Amino acid sequence: MEKKDLEYFKDLLTQWLDELLGKAGNTVVGLLVSEDHLSDPLDRAVLDSERSYTLRIRDRESVLIKKIHASLEDIEDGVYGICDDCGRDISIERLKARPVARHCIRCKTKQEERERLTGVG
Ligand SMILES: [Zn+2]
Repeated sequence: MEKKDLEYFKDLLTQWLDELLGKAGNTVVGLLVSEDHLSDPLDRAVLDSERSYTLRIRDRESVLIKKIHASLEDIEDGVYGICDDCGRDISIERLKARPVARHCIRCKTKQEERERLTGVG
């Protein structure tokens, strides 16, 4: 991959990470603020279900944050955009659509077919 492309993805991933971390911070503040004002059990039930929803989103976000970190490390190590399975370059188009992709489209398709057949994944 060319240096300008690496710079492009590095900026993209860094911005994405900042956004996610900013939002994660707000979520925590939101939880702390709303809890103080609720004593009604019904409100509490609503709050609990809202909280588990929020936590589920945060779980997903933290997985994404880990992936972004891994991609940024790959950029530093000079192995970003190389398929984990076959070692070929992942296309720029694919990376633009999914900057944290670790597999080329061929390996990803194979993997998805396998998952569909075995029901694993
Ligand atoms: Zn591959």
